[in-house]
Amino acid sequence: MPELDTPVRPAAGAATRDIAPLRDFVTGFGRLLDGAPDEPRLLAEGGALLRRLVARDDWLPDAFAQPDPERYRQFLLHADSTERFSVVSFVWGPGQATPIHDHTVWGLIGMLRGAEVSQGYAERGGAWAPEGEAVRLLPGDVEAVSPTVGDVHRVHNLFDDRVSISIHVYGANIGAVRRHTYPAEGGRKAFVSGYSNTLLPNLWDRSAELRAA
Ligand code: FE
Repeated sequence: MPELDTPVRPAAGAATRDIAPLRDFVTGFGRLLDGAPDEPRLLAEGGALLRRLVARDDWLPDAFAQPDPERYRQFLLHADSTERFSVVSFVWGPGQATPIHDHTVWGLIGMLRGAEVSQGYAERGGAWAPEGEAVRLLPGDVEAVSPTVGDVHRVHNLFDDRVSISIHVYGANIGAVRRHTYPAEGGRKAFVSGYSNTLLPNLWDRSAELRAA
């Protein structure tokens, strides 16, 4: 079990969370998509926006940071009004892992808290095998997936004794996308992930800043 350096960054646990960093992120991401960037530019510039968001860990409300003892959870934080993109918090309990799965759309993964490991997979002769080095994501790191840069992977919490949380952005309303898992015995199984929450964080109460002005 590796020791993580204590990061020099605003820490979780503040009594009141200011959601402004997430609001600024979704506003910036919408503006980026308004320019209809090609995928390389989208992943580069969107990745920079996500890197800025996960450079601090003082904005995610606790309600969207709660693990489940049985399996990882995916909380919707924001969906674009025309479903061009969605933002989720992915909460890993100790030792939890995904099956081998795809996304079918572009995605960006930013590590907020703890750490996770992503292993890419490629199909060889009808079976899926690990492809390339596993990527270890530490707080502040960002990784991309897509059908062009590599879409099939398996991810697990690096830690078996603590919760890890990553923030993901996808090029669709990801909980409502038809996707696949790839069982060890071969073939693929369709799945639609859905979300763990029914209520979303309120990004849009900007009254305090107006009153203060
Ligand atoms: Fe994934």
